[in-house]
Amino acid sequence: MNLTQLYDSHIHTALCLHADGEPVDYAAVAAERGLKGLIITDHNPIDGDAWEPGIRMRPEEFSLYLEQIEQAREKWKGLVDVRLGLESDWFPGHEAHLARLHQRAEFDFIWGSIHCNVHAYAKTFYRGDVLEYQKLYYDHLARAAETGLFDAMTHPDVPKFMFPDDWNVEVLLDDIRRSLDRIAATGLALELNTSGLHKPYPEMNPGREILELMLERNIPVIIGSDAHTPSRVGADFDLAVALLDEIGFRHVSYFIGRKRQDVPISAIWDRDISP
Ligand SMILES: [Zn+2]
Ligand SMILES: [Zn+2]
Repeated sequence: MNLTQLYDSHIHTALCLHADGEPVDYAAVAAERGLKGLIITDHNPIDGDAWEPGIRMRPEEFSLYLEQIEQAREKWKGLVDVRLGLESDWFPGHEAHLARLHQRAEFDFIWGSIHCNVHAYAKTFYRGDVLEYQKLYYDHLARAAETGLFDAMTHPDVPKFMFPDDWNVEVLLDDIRRSLDRIAATGLALELNTSGLHKPYPEMNPGREILELMLERNIPVIIGSDAHTPSRVGADFDLAVALLDEIGFRHVSYFIGRKRQDVPISAIWDRDISP
């Protein structure tokens, strides 16, 4: 597989307190694996203690985050293109804060995320009914996309590793279709996140059924490793590209300067051309 066309668009750093390594360390692995570049997308800082301060950089560390990315960018110039991104958690009422944050630097790319598996979100929205909670997630995914704050939404079936025993995509299909219709109308992209292969429901996020519904709606796909440790950079990208190819996608996308770039899968996937 020819990774030189691809960015890994989903990378964390030690600043979020549940990952290790700095951007330079992630860039070293990207260079080794022959990726075109990396978009560092650590969890967004949020003022106050209400929304999981233990799993994100503190607001006063934001400038350090920018500096570390700039250092990596300089160090790996010409070898790996290191870019500035962010993974921003959306929840209702939080839009003004995010709008301000997203203006604080020249971002190349911003993920919107609904982390329904984290305590603060569950405490606010989980009422004891798993199916209702999963349906609410799909409404929130579309609502977040409709805010216009993000370029793409992450791992669009994350409830499956929160409730692996209760995950049944069939019973959610109407809600998923409605959500994807709304997302398609915004023009946003969605992620194919390879880290799901190592989670309690061992499958990429999203799984095949949702990818097929995305293709029907022409929703662009961005591949991300969601690396929380440098060795995971570009992990399982071969499986992700093969899956997209098999389903019928023609492109994989990434964002630079908040503009979408589409790479033909034919340019990534060196097919075995036998006579
Ligand atoms: Zn994380
Ligand atoms: Zn992430």
